[in-house]
Amino acid sequence: MNILFFLTPKSEVAYLYDDQTLRQALEIMEHHRYTAIPMISRLGKYIGTITEGDMLWGIKNEYDLSLKEAEHVPVAVIPRRSDNCPVSIDATMEDMFGKALNQNFVPVVDDQKNFIGIITRKDIMRYCYGQMGKKAQSV
Ligand code: AMP
Repeated sequence: MNILFFLTPKSEVAYLYDDQTLRQALEIMEHHRYTAIPMISRLGKYIGTITEGDMLWGIKNEYDLSLKEAEHVPVAVIPRRSDNCPVSIDATMEDMFGKALNQNFVPVVDDQKNFIGIITRKDIMRYCYGQMGKKAQSV
């Protein structure tokens, strides 16, 4: 089985560009209602994962809770607690499952490190649940 079976393609993913401002980042996250989303460069390379917490602590620690001051700050300068580890397009299912144990989505990159989408833990679990149902019916 190929990991691409689980892929949510980039066209359906909410992501940020690293040169967008902190304010734009907050607005994008508010709009999509995700607590963490991938950040990519304008060249399409995966950079890391930004969370609501990263932005909150960034505004508190660096900008004294002033969003106005942070308005012109590129989101990439905000310290990130931890980036979701990506897998490459030709990773094994074991690789991908291993990553999904520790993060609720796994970014997927091609062999040039271009971001091509994500695999969510929910989609993996949904699939496994479906397989368990099928097995139960066949016994
Ligand atoms: P889910 O398993 O669907 O709850 O998604 C787990 C996490 O993956 C979410 O909390 C988001 O951080 C991220 N995520 C899921 N779907 C998307 C998407 N379409 N765009 C960006 N991030 C997403």
